[in-house]
Amino acid sequence: MTQPRGRLYLLYHELRHHRSDYSYVVETGEFEKHIDLFLKVRDTEGSELWPEVTFDDGHISNFEFGVPVLQSRAIKARFFITVGWTGQRRDYMGWQELRELLQAGQLIGAHGWSHALLTHCNASELHRELVDARLTLEHKLGIPITTMSLPGGRYNRRILTACHEAGYTQIFTSIPRAEPDPAADTIGRLNIRGDMSLEWIAKLLQPGSNLLSGLERQYQVKAAAKSLLGDRLYEKVWALLNRQETETDMRKAAASEDSAHHQ
Ligand SMILES: [Zn+2]
Repeated sequence: MTQPRGRLYLLYHELRHHRSDYSYVVETGEFEKHIDLFLKVRDTEGSELWPEVTFDDGHISNFEFGVPVLQSRAIKARFFITVGWTGQRRDYMGWQELRELLQAGQLIGAHGWSHALLTHCNASELHRELVDARLTLEHKLGIPITTMSLPGGRYNRRILTACHEAGYTQIFTSIPRAEPDPAADTIGRLNIRGDMSLEWIAKLLQPGSNLLSGLERQYQVKAAAKSLLGDRLYEKVWALLNRQETETDMRKAAASEDSAHHQ
């Protein structure tokens, strides 16, 4: 009997035609190669993983560069939208783009209202990030919204309860692991960074590879350090440990862009 395959959700943010030092950017040409690799892995007998594609934040490049690649290969992806940025923030999708995504058969979920880390929110802030975000998406798009991806991947028991009470049935985290149960209520994802090579991703997807379990261990150590030190102190320590690597101004700028956004 063949083992059921684990779904591995890959997480993308922004696409650009040219390479960037900002690690949340993946080059469009590389993204196209990733998608072809995922199709090959799906079709390969003996594969242990079934790759799936997700995007966080709702950047306009997802629509302009990502959707044509997905549509040409008949791939459905999940787009998690920062609802308060929609039609408000430059470089992010508006309601018209989201409607076109849906018409193209793509899937939409919520990514909060303002991209606040949910673990830092009080009850009324949580209501805005979870309930207002879901109701606004439902009202504007006319579809039920039941999936949520956690900004910065941060959560705890209080946040999970609040997500369920707000009407979300599946919560997408940033814990790099595959999900054997498609109906699981929390679902891990592997964040794809611009500096990951196609060869390395292919290796990770190969049967018997231990790369993913290594990444999950690293992630858990980092998460434990964050909860022990608190986010602010963790960021200071992180910056200190990474100081020697930030040689050029460009790298420094990319690093601060990173920490402002997701680290
Ligand atoms: Zn995000």
